[in-house]
Amino acid sequence: MESGYQRLARRGVSRRDFLKLCTFTCAALGIDLSLAPQIAEAAEANLSKKPVIWMQGQGCTGCSESLLSSVDPGPEEIILDLLSVRYHPTLMAASGEQAIQSLEDCISQGHYILVLEGSIPTADPRYCFVEGKPFMEQFKLAAEKAEAVIAVGSCACYGGIPRAGFTGAVGAQEVLGGVKVVNLPSCPVKPDRLVGLLLYYLSHNALPKLDGLNRPEAYYRYTLHDSCYRRWHYEKGEYLEDWNNPDTLDWCLYHKGCKGQDTYTNCANAWWNGGANFCGYAGSPCAGCSQPEYYEGFAPLFVNPKEVK
Ligand code: SF4
Repeated sequence: MESGYQRLARRGVSRRDFLKLCTFTCAALGIDLSLAPQIAEAAEANLSKKPVIWMQGQGCTGCSESLLSSVDPGPEEIILDLLSVRYHPTLMAASGEQAIQSLEDCISQGHYILVLEGSIPTADPRYCFVEGKPFMEQFKLAAEKAEAVIAVGSCACYGGIPRAGFTGAVGAQEVLGGVKVVNLPSCPVKPDRLVGLLLYYLSHNALPKLDGLNRPEAYYRYTLHDSCYRRWHYEKGEYLEDWNNPDTLDWCLYHKGCKGQDTYTNCANAWWNGGANFCGYAGSPCAGCSQPEYYEGFAPLFVNPKEVK
């Protein structure tokens, strides 16, 4: 049988790229970099063996989109090709009864990782039905035998944008009482965080250290404000007021509604899309999407705090 690495090689991902990814994972998780080859070896041995169930509740599928738009060796290669993804409502080839059969078989065998994308309605189960059953019921059933539950994106972690609506949307930890749940909040999920978490889990057979909100501490230890490249303008009281003034484009975005002071994330250190950019550098104030307050508690997002009642 083809090993996990042979499958990667077949897709044109070199061992060097894979090692680079593992080194990046070690750096992001605060692990000694000299351990990267061991992590690569252990993860490689376990790739393609660990079954994954990916469920989607109330959401926009943006987290799956985010995953599919990432770089080489793409998280989508790691997750969709190398792990054994047994159920993913929008990406799996099977549909209808075949798809449900695959889900049920996987649940009955146990020992899988459950990934949740999207929120879960609590006001009335009819707000989210999948295959004729309330989604909450299906999710709870799948969580029972899962080794770990990973909530990807703000909706799955804390309810996200749907929480501001009338469906009583909550995240996985509220439904499961926090048991086994790891939160990877942001809107959408940051793919390298998910890959890093999976590589860590596959190589250590344990979860990394979590913070009080069940987030891997290494990714969410500091506020965006702590590492923001606009910070020195903030210290000087220089705030961007007019987007059309080219002289102030790098100034602090606080008056444009930046939530960086209240938002724990490593976005300013580990940029998105393979280091291409992140919200702050693209000129957008931080919306606070890795916090439980997002979206409702931070809205209106792009308004000077002085003007918010
Ligand atoms: Fe802080 Fe936001 Fe200003 Fe950056 S832009 S210095 S995160 S308030």
